[in-house]
Amino acid sequence: MTLAGLPPSLVVREVGPRDGLQAEAPVPATARARLIEALLSAGVREIEVAAFVSPKAVPSMAGAAEVLAAIGPRAGVRRWALVPNRRGAELAIDAGIDGLTVTVSASETYSAKNVRMSVADSVTEAVHICETAGPGVPVDVVVSCAFGSPYEGDIAPAQVASLCRVVLDGGATQITLADTTGMASPRRVDDVLALTGSDVGLHLHETRGAGLVNAYAAAQAGVRRFDTSVGGLGGSPFAAGATGNLATEDLVNLCDDLGVETGIDLERLLAASAVAADIVGHDVPSRVAAAGPRSRLAPAPPG
Ligand code: ZN
Repeated sequence: MTLAGLPPSLVVREVGPRDGLQAEAPVPATARARLIEALLSAGVREIEVAAFVSPKAVPSMAGAAEVLAAIGPRAGVRRWALVPNRRGAELAIDAGIDGLTVTVSASETYSAKNVRMSVADSVTEAVHICETAGPGVPVDVVVSCAFGSPYEGDIAPAQVASLCRVVLDGGATQITLADTTGMASPRRVDDVLALTGSDVGLHLHETRGAGLVNAYAAAQAGVRRFDTSVGGLGGSPFAAGATGNLATEDLVNLCDDLGVETGIDLERLLAASAVAADIVGHDVPSRVAAAGPRSRLAPAPPG
């Protein structure tokens, strides 16, 4: 039984092998594939595995095609890759990717600093990527700074909603709203979802410690897709005091207690989190990874 307003299940897209490891010192493709295998064996079915970006610009994402080749296609699993442009999209498609993630920013200044493009230009590029992908490869456009910008503060929810409409009209399959620099709060989540609708994914960060409460508020408001990172690895290099993404194990631990299905086995996920810590060479920020899951002390009642 779930609490009022909560869905019976959520889709958790794991972004650690890309968003998490991108923020770390470079890790070999074989080690990244090992982490992905551990996540798949925990029951992860949606996973961002790589970024097809210039290895000079982002050394930690070098060898994207090798990572993809090492894991291969899997029945029932969708492997996503971040691509910044058409060239990246072509490389990812040639490597057999199942879905593309593309970032556009709701913040003009963040866009200029992060990708050195205006918002309008990055939307144009996203539309070109959708054309390159065609009908066979879904494109998820991730709207960064959807809940506020470190430079401009609050971004009008109407502006976020109109950006979403433009990219959907341009061919995006789905939208994910990202709290890139930890500006979201349940109030802010409500304000934005009131205009975008709840058929969006949420990509939450723990920069100000509100990741889980934002996920809870969004689930109650009807959101069914969440991006999380194993161990809570990741974080924007452009966010002051940036800490990681919402940790997959922290969300799954909460969902297990609430009776919300994720299809992910928490103990196996914690084993994957230990792999993540091993390959990056330091402890991960996840609280559940540190404290252990609630279910070890108080198993859920049957049914
Ligand atoms: Zn992130």
